[in-house]
Amino acid sequence: MTDQPQQPSPLRSPLQSIDAICAAAGSDIPSVTRPLVAPIYQSSVFQIESLEQIDDIYEGREEGFIYSRDANPNVSILERVIAQLEGADDAVAFASGMGAMGVTLLSMLKSGDSILAASDLYGGTNTLLRDQLSRLGVRTQFVDATDLDAVETALNLEPALVVVESITNPLLRLSDVQSISRLAHERGARVAVDNTLATPLLLRPLDLGADVAIHSTTKFLGGHSDVTGGAVAARADLAMQVRLANRGWGNTLDPFAAWLITRGLRTLPLRIERACDNAMHAAGFLAAHPKVSAVHYPGLPDHPQRELARSMFGARFGHMVSFEFDDPSEASAFVRSLRMIALAPSLGEARTTISHPAKTSHRALTPAERAASGIHDGLIRMSCGIESAQDIITDLARALG
Ligand SMILES: *Cc1c(COP(=O)(O)O)cnc(C)c1O
Repeated sequence: MTDQPQQPSPLRSPLQSIDAICAAAGSDIPSVTRPLVAPIYQSSVFQIESLEQIDDIYEGREEGFIYSRDANPNVSILERVIAQLEGADDAVAFASGMGAMGVTLLSMLKSGDSILAASDLYGGTNTLLRDQLSRLGVRTQFVDATDLDAVETALNLEPALVVVESITNPLLRLSDVQSISRLAHERGARVAVDNTLATPLLLRPLDLGADVAIHSTTKFLGGHSDVTGGAVAARADLAMQVRLANRGWGNTLDPFAAWLITRGLRTLPLRIERACDNAMHAAGFLAAHPKVSAVHYPGLPDHPQRELARSMFGARFGHMVSFEFDDPSEASAFVRSLRMIALAPSLGEARTTISHPAKTSHRALTPAERAASGIHDGLIRMSCGIESAQDIITDLARALG
């Protein structure tokens, strides 16, 4: 070992006290060859060379990072990939899908504005609109977004923003993003699409005219049920508006979470292909089974929106399948008899999981509201994973037998 340091290093100075050594632990970063995969920049702050560099970074003359609430390398890496996947100029990552939805709405709306929203939105979004934004003077009108005439009529109320999901949960209805965007823009309203269930591999809302695409990256993009996150993709000016709003609201994604989601994205095309193919097989199997009273899957030939699904998605129709038992006690027996498929109230994981919407995602609704939304106690929602189709069908067949 030579005493000659390669670079200034507080840890190698003989003059340092134990206290200074401890205080600087972890700042002695080795100069290594370029790693193949980004390391995790688990640092809330970055060391700056000069006062001039602060200006250069803040004013965009130099690429760099200052404070991780505003920007962090792992978060920026993730944002770039999501922007590319969505065909957007830019994307902003958030600590959760609800964080992405909430800050997007806060950044695009002001008191007195109104929202036109699909009536069967994700439960968390529905609650956000009804209980939180309403307190800030933003009113929401709900509409059946599968009914374009109803959407057109409701646009007479001159909402500032239309909020829909490209595929809804749990009944897997589709919003015609292209027609809704055209109608909304004719009336001066902007369009936000929650694209979580479709993923950008099946559908890119911005290509169809929407203004923002919103994701819970907790689901299929992360893909392994080990991280919570969200993202918003948009044109540069809108994305900047959302980004600046989040500097105030502070719903920042953690670097490790960003790293995990980015790792999930590396296998996204393979996972989505397998999971969608599995869903198609499982939907066909369930539709032919005498114990199952209804199957909701946009890829089935008798799905009422099958043609729209084809034009929106092409050859694959998503990884989610929902199905119904007439008698809720049969649903309960079915769930108990599954061996491989896990009961877990989320979706988009490598394993096949099922959930019971009435008891979980739609628990906050009254029974009457659930009935009006078509969410019965015998309804099961399945998120297909990447096992083989045969594995899934074997477990379903056993539990139905
Ligand atoms: C899960 C989900 C959300 C909320 O995302 P979190 O990451 O749980 O905050 C929003 N929209 C849809 C469609 C979802 O499935």
